[in-house]
Amino acid sequence: MSDHGSAEYDLIILGGGAVGENIADRAVQGGLTAVIVENELVGGECSYWACMPSKVLLRSTQALRAARQLPGAAEAVTGQLNIEAVLARRDYYTSNWSDAGQVQWLDSAGIGLIRGHGRITGTKRVTVTAADGSTREITARHAVAVATGSGALVPDIEGLADAQPWTSREATSIKTVPESLAIIGGGVVATEMAAAFAGFGTEVTLISRSGLLTTMEPFAGEQVGAALRDQGVNLLLDTKTTSVHRNGNAVTVETSDGQTITAQEVLVATGRTPNTGDAGLGSVGLTPGEWIETDDTLRVPGHNWLYAAGDVTNRALLTHQGKYQARAVGDVIVARATGAAVDAAPWGRHVATADHAAVPQVTFTDPEIASVGLTAHAAAKAGYDIRVVDYEIGNVAGAGLHAEGYKGTARMVVDEARKVVLGVTFVGPDVSELLHAATIAIVAEIPLDRLWHAVPAYPTVSEIWLRLLETYGRETR
Ligand SMILES: Cc1cc2nc3c(=O)[nH]c(=O)nc-3n(C[C@H](O)[C@H](O)[C@H](O)COP(=O)(O)OP(=O)(O)OC[C@H]3O[C@@H](n4cnc5c(N)ncnc54)[C@H](O)[C@@H]3O)c2cc1C
Repeated sequence: MSDHGSAEYDLIILGGGAVGENIADRAVQGGLTAVIVENELVGGECSYWACMPSKVLLRSTQALRAARQLPGAAEAVTGQLNIEAVLARRDYYTSNWSDAGQVQWLDSAGIGLIRGHGRITGTKRVTVTAADGSTREITARHAVAVATGSGALVPDIEGLADAQPWTSREATSIKTVPESLAIIGGGVVATEMAAAFAGFGTEVTLISRSGLLTTMEPFAGEQVGAALRDQGVNLLLDTKTTSVHRNGNAVTVETSDGQTITAQEVLVATGRTPNTGDAGLGSVGLTPGEWIETDDTLRVPGHNWLYAAGDVTNRALLTHQGKYQARAVGDVIVARATGAAVDAAPWGRHVATADHAAVPQVTFTDPEIASVGLTAHAAAKAGYDIRVVDYEIGNVAGAGLHAEGYKGTARMVVDEARKVVLGVTFVGPDVSELLHAATIAIVAEIPLDRLWHAVPAYPTVSEIWLRLLETYGRETR
């Protein structure tokens, strides 16, 4: 790949994940030169160990269950899940952990790539250490952007670090399916992996020190928990893991209530930690190992040349939201470099306003959870005068047609002062495709009396929108 051997670029980006790639693309499209420094695979976590492989591992089980629940189709399902075929599809989607295609794309987009570990060594200066130990100094004419992402957090639990625990990386890149798996954690990764492995026939025990998915509407965790139990997962909630020990091919997990779980593998899914421990942040007065704080143009306060985007900012640890930030960063660096106007007002072109108001997220369990904006709890805590509207999605005609005995819940949180939607959560089979309408309603602050005129097609699951508005009341002013 061309890095043109230059010592100077307009923009240097540390980290070539989805976010780094998008920052570079916008900057190059705006006429700047940009180079990415990447020490592993171009494409980052999402492509090889996160979004892509995890969704492949879940999808076939989900499709099979959907078919089994539908009269007519159910009779046609006579075999079992073909795990080998699922893993082969996963290998296809991760390009067998080769970044050749992404590198080719960088080349075609005119983006430079330097392979190696990047460390900031001063204002606009980066040292890259290659795999063979050789180093190279590069400088940025205008800006450096840190997009180094995050890694799995391994909590300080007795014996855990020595028990060769899986993180999401090992779970998503499995070559064979374990007979049993203990999962420590109760968030998105823990619940998705519990669903995936239960689908493969693994005996799964999930241990969470609180409930499931506790930052979401309470019914989300409850319904996913009930489904996981139905799928055979042993859920130990409000249970602390006190120690973990490996003995050959078995791991034992001790819990605060005196239980001992023995499993072939243990997956730790208790959160993320920023990849900033060894990126040279100390050289410019920032604290290594911490998340990077930015203003809304994703610039680091006190450093007019330094930006950060994606997971490393801890604003919204999601690929689509990181890429949204990346578009703003790439564009604002171009604007500042060329002396063009910066549009930094809320919802302006160069700011990541949606990070505060409308972050869509799908949890790909079965049922799925699709949520955007504020939960009722978060909205009330933020001081909004809210009204909460709940509706059982199964009562919508289109839902019954979509899946026999469709079960699910929708919640709309309304700001009573402005009569606009602040948050929406859907839980149910295939609700992920309902989410973007909710995101648009929140971002555009569409008044409910205008939303009333957005008529959902009959008979689709989208009719949930009509039911939510009817439940709210026709007089929306
Ligand atoms: C199991 C799992 C499932 C997920 N599923 C979804 C999903 O379905 N949808 C979704 O939106 N999000 C999902 N996410 C979150 C998503 O993966 C992240 O938000 C996304 O990868 C962040 O992108 P990034 O570019 O900020 O960081 P990363 O993808 O982590 O990329 C950072 C890159 O920087 C490189 N790097 C780090 N330090 C240096 C350095 N000093 N020098 C050079 N290179 C460096 C790394 O090698 C890496 O390639 C999931 C996460 C996990 C763990």
